[in-house]
Amino acid sequence: MTLKFAVIGHPIDHSKSPQLHEAGFREFEIDASFEKIDITPENLEAFLKEEAKHYTGIAVTVPHKETVMKYIDFYTEAAQSIGAVNTLYWKDGKLCGTNTDGLGALRALKTQTELEGKNVFVLGAGGAAKAVVYGLKAAGAEVIIYNRTFSKAEALAEQFDAVVLESLQLAIPHDIDIVINTTTVGMNEYKSLLPEDFWMPQHIGFDIVYKPLYTKFLQDCESVDGTCITGDKMLTYQALEQFRLWHGMMLEPEIMESAFFDE
Ligand code: NAP
Repeated sequence: MTLKFAVIGHPIDHSKSPQLHEAGFREFEIDASFEKIDITPENLEAFLKEEAKHYTGIAVTVPHKETVMKYIDFYTEAAQSIGAVNTLYWKDGKLCGTNTDGLGALRALKTQTELEGKNVFVLGAGGAAKAVVYGLKAAGAEVIIYNRTFSKAEALAEQFDAVVLESLQLAIPHDIDIVINTTTVGMNEYKSLLPEDFWMPQHIGFDIVYKPLYTKFLQDCESVDGTCITGDKMLTYQALEQFRLWHGMMLEPEIMESAFFDE
């Protein structure tokens, strides 16, 4: 019997989930399909109650990551802390939700560095920032947060016991090991929140934006010989975690990393 998987969101055309997971199906010769399903917010509850049972696993993307939590039977500690679900699975007949974004960010960072005791400067306090900060704190990093809207940075810092900065000028580059951009600044534009002279060779720069892959943020980091991590790494590692959960098998990262570039 062909297993069925899907990603739900609105809009959904841009999603790379099918191509990442289909690469895994091919590698392990799993008889399965992976659909993109456009679900409007009004149709989410009906989809989960009537259609979800036909799917072994469902990836959840914008704008449903938070609201989906209202309609499922159980969610994990990761989903609860992050306040969002990006992965649905079945256990004992119950529809369960978890969040693999934090682990995805962590595994992307771990391709270059250990996190324990490192000083990490996080730009942004939106949905993705929550997942990133959750992963960083779980790995023992010290986190410093700046966000345009200070109240959101304050709330995130309070939840995860991080330090909050009121302005970018208060950041001391010399004291920072890793800088992560979780804002939308740089997405489809040549802009960075950080001044060019912020960067030092000791820095690891991680931009979770993946359109484009080499953002101005990363180009500035690279121009002083800093180490760069591109946003496709977080996307592929969070999908690898989904794959492990749904199939109970670890896929080599390179398989999904190269599928990311398939047209
Ligand atoms: P979100 O919840 O809407 O948060 C957006 C963040 O960007 C907020 O902190 C916002 O600050 C900040 N921001 C937006 N415009 C700004 C500006 N002009 N100046 C300064 N700050 C600005 O979005 P999200 O879901 O967290 O996604 C953020 C980015 O991460 C997107 O590009 C998304 O594609 C990417 N992403 C990547 C992955 C991956 O796997 N690689 C996963 C998830 C998301 P305010 O709070 O002040 O508005």
